[in-house]
Amino acid sequence: MKVLVPVKRVLDYNVKPRVKADGTGVDLANVKMSMNPFDEIAVEEAIRLKDRAGVTEIVVVSIGEQKAQETIRTALAMGADRGILVTSDTKVEPLGVAKILAKIVEEEQPQLVILGKQAIDDDNNQTGQMLAGLLGWAQGTFASKVEIAGETAKVTREVDGGLETDDLKLPAIVTTDLRLNEPRYASLPNIMKAKSKPLAQKTAADFGVDVTPRLTTLKVAEPNKRSAGVKVADVDELVMKLKAMGVAK
Ligand code: AMP
Repeated sequence: MKVLVPVKRVLDYNVKPRVKADGTGVDLANVKMSMNPFDEIAVEEAIRLKDRAGVTEIVVVSIGEQKAQETIRTALAMGADRGILVTSDTKVEPLGVAKILAKIVEEEQPQLVILGKQAIDDDNNQTGQMLAGLLGWAQGTFASKVEIAGETAKVTREVDGGLETDDLKLPAIVTTDLRLNEPRYASLPNIMKAKSKPLAQKTAADFGVDVTPRLTTLKVAEPNKRSAGVKVADVDELVMKLKAMGVAK
């Protein structure tokens, strides 16, 4: 069984984003970029399924600028087998990404696609759902557990009321939530080995997909600064202050 894992290169989660002076977006010049954390979880899950559930090949794909190949190499160093880099001159929105992924699915015929539930740069939480819609496949989003049994993926999902378990008929789409697993660090020997793993290079145009942006960003601004908090001596003082503010009776 082949698994496809889309991985996005995003601003590292430890970096505090800076808004560009002209308000057109987040300044990405000279800042650390890394694999989207939910995608690391997706790669880790694919590797674990390879160890226990008969997965034979893990293919990772990234859509973006040339430097996204570093993100693919990271996934290869973790244990994925092969990479596909799709470069594009323009920023590709979730619908464009999903359309390119649908074409790659047609070519590669994976039984399972594991995506992150969202990319932490734009927080869209759309690509997996759109891909499932385009392919007409079952989807299990926000997975905290995935088990493969024959032609079925049993996916435990985190929902508002607790946990829900769905049986998905393969082929299917899964998106990862934080509690699914703890991704491994790539070891130095594996980082070296990853350099010689196959990485195919394509462009968005090769897939004949229209990736023209549908959205216009009007303005990006820093959130308002939070005003300083006040320290209280004890609970009585806290209650008094809350009463004075009209928050408590
Ligand atoms: P989003 O819908 O943008 O929040 O992204 C959800 C998931 O879709 C991510 O966690 C990735 O697995 C995948 N994805 C989104 N954009 C890309 C991209 N440019 N390249 C590869 N995978 C992507």
